[in-house]
Amino acid sequence: MLSRPRSTIANAARVFATILLAAAVAVAGSVTALAQGVSVVRDAEIEALVRDYARPIFKAAGLANDGIDIVLVNDSSFNAFVTGRRLFINTGALMTAETPNEIIGVIAHEAGHIAGGHQQKLREQLERAKTMAIIATLLGAGAMVAGATTNSRGLAGAGMGVAAGGGEMAQRSILAYQRTEEITADRSAITYLNATGQSGMGMLKTFHRFQTALSLSGAQVDPYRISHPMPQDRIANLEVLVKQSPNVDKLDPPTLQQRHDMMRVKIAVYMEGQAAAARLMQKMRGSMAALYGDAQSTYLYGNLASALIKTNALIKAQPKNAYFQELRGDILMKANKPKDAADAYAKAVSLDPARSGLLPVSLGQALMAVGTPDSLKKAVVQINNGLGRDKENSTGYRYLAQAYGELGDIPGAELATAEGHFYSGDYKDAKIFAMRAQQQMKRGEPRWIRAQDIINYKSSGKSQ
Ligand SMILES: [Zn+2]
Repeated sequence: MLSRPRSTIANAARVFATILLAAAVAVAGSVTALAQGVSVVRDAEIEALVRDYARPIFKAAGLANDGIDIVLVNDSSFNAFVTGRRLFINTGALMTAETPNEIIGVIAHEAGHIAGGHQQKLREQLERAKTMAIIATLLGAGAMVAGATTNSRGLAGAGMGVAAGGGEMAQRSILAYQRTEEITADRSAITYLNATGQSGMGMLKTFHRFQTALSLSGAQVDPYRISHPMPQDRIANLEVLVKQSPNVDKLDPPTLQQRHDMMRVKIAVYMEGQAAAARLMQKMRGSMAALYGDAQSTYLYGNLASALIKTNALIKAQPKNAYFQELRGDILMKANKPKDAADAYAKAVSLDPARSGLLPVSLGQALMAVGTPDSLKKAVVQINNGLGRDKENSTGYRYLAQAYGELGDIPGAELATAEGHFYSGDYKDAKIFAMRAQQQMKRGEPRWIRAQDIINYKSSGKSQ
């Protein structure tokens, strides 16, 4: 199931955006995206697939042990960007790309930025630009004051001109710097693709698409295009490198392509609506992806009994597919059959090769809906299991708090609520609930210590 919780990641990103915008030089598309706040999408299947795309590339880039998070952003435009140790990819990019190789190429390019430490350098560059802008403003203000004292409008106007010109100068220096970084990231990307035996054609195809007039004519300009200037010479240089590679004609393995198609259809069904999904499925007629999309579409917009029949057929074709079991669980939950749903989710958990933290939480929810004291206790175990794999799932804490509450464990419920607030970036409420939890706990017990950690936490943001 696709879900869109408020997330700590979105919050962290917003703080970062504030830092960048303070420099008053909005050059990168990512800055614009961040300024508007990022809505994060969670989905076990898509996260696993994108991680599978990234893993070999990160390894080739020497980033395998850097613990880089991949974050899916709910946005239908094409974008991918890096902040700190997080690689953000828009669902729009995943849905637009026709092959895994196109996304892998974009990841390789972004990995080039991470490995090159570009982001850190961009920050420094922005700092410098800010200083330049401040100096320019001071010069401008000085001229304005001079103008005011002589009471001459003309001079005041000249002062304004200097101020504006200074900002532009700072912006130009950033753009020049950015161009160098783009070329470096392109070259690194080719190195990683060669090292992993993959073609650069996907990356080239994506960049070509941004260069064509077609992408300009749309009402919406893709942020990736803005943050990645694609002058003719850059593409031409890249093309030479891509075509020199012995892997130029290599295609993605068919199983990977099938997972990619399934992901595209899933995003279409859940995020773009029935009509967009139907159009995409038409192009994939007869494939597993089209059948998967049809089952999901029937679950969301049609008849549950029919959705279940279609999903059972999918399971028969791929008995080891964890996400078909997850869909079966979703359908059974909606049909108010939590016991059967729990069985399906349990299968999904045991089949999931990526060990997503999301699936045990779904299982826990189904067990909570069963509602017996025994199933509630099992729910707590499962949700804790899921949160152990994925601490930042703020929605999971909400269910955990509810389960503890129903079991009569009030301090447990308050601590879970505190954790939920904590991982949503709401530190003030997190502390309030942590203090409430502590009042009913034995000083020094593990849960008391965790509550104390939350109380002691100093956020790097402006407020606590
Ligand atoms: Zn770039």
